[in-house]
Amino acid sequence: MSCAATVQQRSGATPADERAERERIDNVRPVDWRNPSPVRRYDLVIVGAGTAGLVAAKAAASRGAKVALVERHLLGGTCLNIGCVPSKAILRTSRLYDEMRHADRYGACVPRDIHVDFAAAMRRVRGVRARISRADSARRLAAAGIDVFFGQARFTRTDALQVDRAKLHFAKALITTGARPDTPEIPGLAEAGYLTNENAFDLTEAPRRLLVIGGGPLGCEMAQAFCRLGVRTTIVQRQPLFLPREERDAAQILSDSFARDGIEIRLNTRALDVRVDGGAKVVDLVSDDYRSTVVVDAILTGTGRVPNTDDLDLEAAGVDADARHGVRVDDFLRTRNRRIYAAGDVCLNDKFNDTAQASALMVIENALFNGRRRLSELTVPWCTYTDPEIAHVGLYARQARERNIPVKTFTIPMHDVDRAIADDEEVGFVKISVEERSDRILGATIVARHAGEMISEITLAVVAGVGLGTLARVIHAYPTQAEAIRMAADAYVRTRGRS
Ligand SMILES: Cc1cc2nc3c(=O)[nH]c(=O)nc-3n(C[C@H](O)[C@H](O)[C@H](O)COP(=O)(O)OP(=O)(O)OC[C@H]3O[C@@H](n4cnc5c(N)ncnc54)[C@H](O)[C@@H]3O)c2cc1C
Repeated sequence: MSCAATVQQRSGATPADERAERERIDNVRPVDWRNPSPVRRYDLVIVGAGTAGLVAAKAAASRGAKVALVERHLLGGTCLNIGCVPSKAILRTSRLYDEMRHADRYGACVPRDIHVDFAAAMRRVRGVRARISRADSARRLAAAGIDVFFGQARFTRTDALQVDRAKLHFAKALITTGARPDTPEIPGLAEAGYLTNENAFDLTEAPRRLLVIGGGPLGCEMAQAFCRLGVRTTIVQRQPLFLPREERDAAQILSDSFARDGIEIRLNTRALDVRVDGGAKVVDLVSDDYRSTVVVDAILTGTGRVPNTDDLDLEAAGVDADARHGVRVDDFLRTRNRRIYAAGDVCLNDKFNDTAQASALMVIENALFNGRRRLSELTVPWCTYTDPEIAHVGLYARQARERNIPVKTFTIPMHDVDRAIADDEEVGFVKISVEERSDRILGATIVARHAGEMISEITLAVVAGVGLGTLARVIHAYPTQAEAIRMAADAYVRTRGRS
């Protein structure tokens, strides 16, 4: 059944919207904030107060370091304001609408003509964001002894930087300036206007028709969310499948799910140019030699993220960076200037909130406490929060083979899992790869409604060196979808001829 439904439009922000926004801004950029007078020299100056900067500042301050934290826009950075938090909040509401549309599957009766209150959904997003912003409040940071400076930071020397008129001298510095949306070079796009994650969550009215350009995690999550909120959605992806990093069977399941939702899927397709005609945006597409046109009211791009390195005067700091990969760091997250480190999206390929946190904590150990923690030691799980979710950790089977590691894979379809059947969430699988003739887990892909929760068990096993045989002996509460992991482990044990 298509997502298309009547969308109830109420334009403009309501008092509740404004209250939520006021609360968030009061936390993450108080209007009456006055930057403190800098101390003579900070143990650590952090540039950028997104996830990585905040985690680093709190960790360093709690261990007695004198810390300055500089933010040019909003505390909380991408994740809180324009990333993980609002995207997961909108996905939750969109899923509810999907469940209501399919309520009959659960033996429940819901009127057929469901009115989507888009403005209310977005109000909830703002409410969630406001609530979570409390943890990142400037006053709380100041109370923890952190000097918070709002303004643009620029390095002036290898051991100092400038924020407005204040000069901050440091023993060590950490660059955590994150990344911003990449803009695809499509003639006419800029003139026509488009949405990115930076402004999509400010919408109070739904576009009637939406084109999403880009089939990575962001494009996929947003396409599904907007479609389920009643927006007629088309998604364009250059590659033959969505989420090109993931295994083909996982990406295919997602395509099927999009098709069921009624998203118009254009794979192997590029947007050539955009023009405005009678208030609508007309986008020419090409797939091999076949040209077509879509007419929409809004375009949302999700075609990658570029690191924020431009405005820092990194040359003055003796730090190397390039526009595509960001700040160059070694395995200890040190830049060419031994005083200066980087963490999070500005320097990492894996641009995730959890990696930003982990790398930031690693820098605190290495920069302030003579640690020797290496980036290469990290085991990073990730998840795309579509329905079903697609989560992964470790090596893909193809990567293991490329490295000449003999690999054996155990797959359990979710339709064999009692809880998935009971919940009517049978789409997906748990696939765990081990090194052949051992139970060493190389990696896992989980495609399931709760894959993001389930992948932690495998991540723990990989980090702790727990083999798949041991997971077979772990009692999993019945009935849970995580039992699929134990079932894969049972399958492994059967191949070993043991019970
Ligand atoms: C739509 C979307 C959804 C996402 N969902 C997820 C998810 O579900 N799970 C997940 O793990 N990850 C998700 N991510 C990725 C996650 O948000 C990022 O990996 C994470 O926020 C990176 O944190 P960071 O601290 O490195 O950078 P940021 O959070 O971007 O923070 C950088 C900060 O530096 C500031 N800054 C930049 N330059 C300067 C300067 N010169 N002076 C002072 N300040 C400066 C910026 O204003 C910003 O506040 C999502 C991203 C997007 C866009």
